[in-house]
Amino acid sequence: MKRIAVFGSTGSIGTQALSIIASNPRRLKPVLLTCRSRIDMLRGQIERFRPEAVAVERESDAVALRREYPGLEVYCGKGGLRDAAREIGCDIMLNAVVGIAGLEPTLAAIDAAKAHGIAGFTIALANKETLVTGGRLVITRAADAGALLVPVDSEHSAIFQCLMGNEGNAIKRILLTASGGPFRGYSTEQLKSVTVGDALIHPNWKMGRKITVDSATMVNKGLEIIEAKWLYGVEASKIEVLIHPQSIVHSMVEYEDGAIMAQLGTPNMKVPISYAFSYPERWVTDARNVDFITLGSLQFDAPAGDTRRSLDMAYRVMRESEEKAYDSGAVALNGANEVLVQLFLDGRIAFLDIIDSLEKVLDSHDSRTVKGIEDILEIDRQARERALSFIRR
Ligand code: NAD
Ligand code: MG
Repeated sequence: MKRIAVFGSTGSIGTQALSIIASNPRRLKPVLLTCRSRIDMLRGQIERFRPEAVAVERESDAVALRREYPGLEVYCGKGGLRDAAREIGCDIMLNAVVGIAGLEPTLAAIDAAKAHGIAGFTIALANKETLVTGGRLVITRAADAGALLVPVDSEHSAIFQCLMGNEGNAIKRILLTASGGPFRGYSTEQLKSVTVGDALIHPNWKMGRKITVDSATMVNKGLEIIEAKWLYGVEASKIEVLIHPQSIVHSMVEYEDGAIMAQLGTPNMKVPISYAFSYPERWVTDARNVDFITLGSLQFDAPAGDTRRSLDMAYRVMRESEEKAYDSGAVALNGANEVLVQLFLDGRIAFLDIIDSLEKVLDSHDSRTVKGIEDILEIDRQARERALSFIRR
């Protein structure tokens, strides 16, 4: 029986994870649940899964939960996630929060696993922003602690699987697939008038709001280039993005002899979530069969148009990281994106303002090495301010 902590339990990934946990009661025991909002949903989860602890954002929610559930450990506030990650021992940490908020808890969980000598400690990582902002730090710290990072992001789970059995063989290319989102093929003119509602309708995946907007701008794919770079230690120039509207091929790895390994399946996040828990085993999921006969064709196109600029920004910050070990650009890109997406969702800026302002933030950013977690948080804070200042102008 493995003890599992679910960070972001009320979200899209978190709720699907709990459904997998419910289907595997003799394999997984949820000991910690965390969320920021949807406290009523959390109450239902507490009653259903009886965790030892929860972490919430607001003090008032924590007070109420302590009163309602005597014996339940309740963390809250700014450092709540980090403290819970440090104090509640687990074998698997699912990190499914949104944004840079996932970075500190990841580091705390790795440190705690090392301190308590938890053998085979696994981070099931959905929160790609952890690696985008703290990639070098997290990969080094995890290796030092003997912690295993298993990606939940479907493309990275695919790459993880395509690498198995090929350890030691040089990678020629990683082919990272992208659905293209709701605005695939849109001209600049068309993108000027898209609404929040349009951006929130993803053709193939039902996800949280932030990643859905990121998929529409293709910033998500840019973040995934950075995520893949850190996970698999390949230069960003070897990571190619392919637009694949059917989302059946989840990504591919090409080796030096020209052989290409791909991982396929219906678009269903329960497959990569379950695999991150079960690795190296595979458990039954509710994924439908791919019907290749009725599927018709699998299509692949080059990224094009305005959203291509989001990929270029990711390559640009990764070049600086590779050539000079300057990692601040990715932190700035991520931080600025987080505020800009929120402004777009709040109806305060237009869709293309996100991409335009990100480019301005990067143009005005002085790239440099990062000196640890406090420094990363400071670069993040400055990038957010910078993005806001461009919008105010
Ligand atoms: P979501 O918005 O549906 O859920 C996020 C969860 O985290 C909620 O429980 C929320 O309360 C909590 N949370 C949000 N902000 C927080 C903060 N600042 N501090 C603490 N808790 C916070 O998001 P999601 O779609 O489940 O995505 C979660 C992560 O997984 C993201 O990093 C996303 O990029 C990644 N991801 C998601 C999918 C998907 O299919 N949804 C696929 C690949 C990767
Ligand atoms: Mg993905």
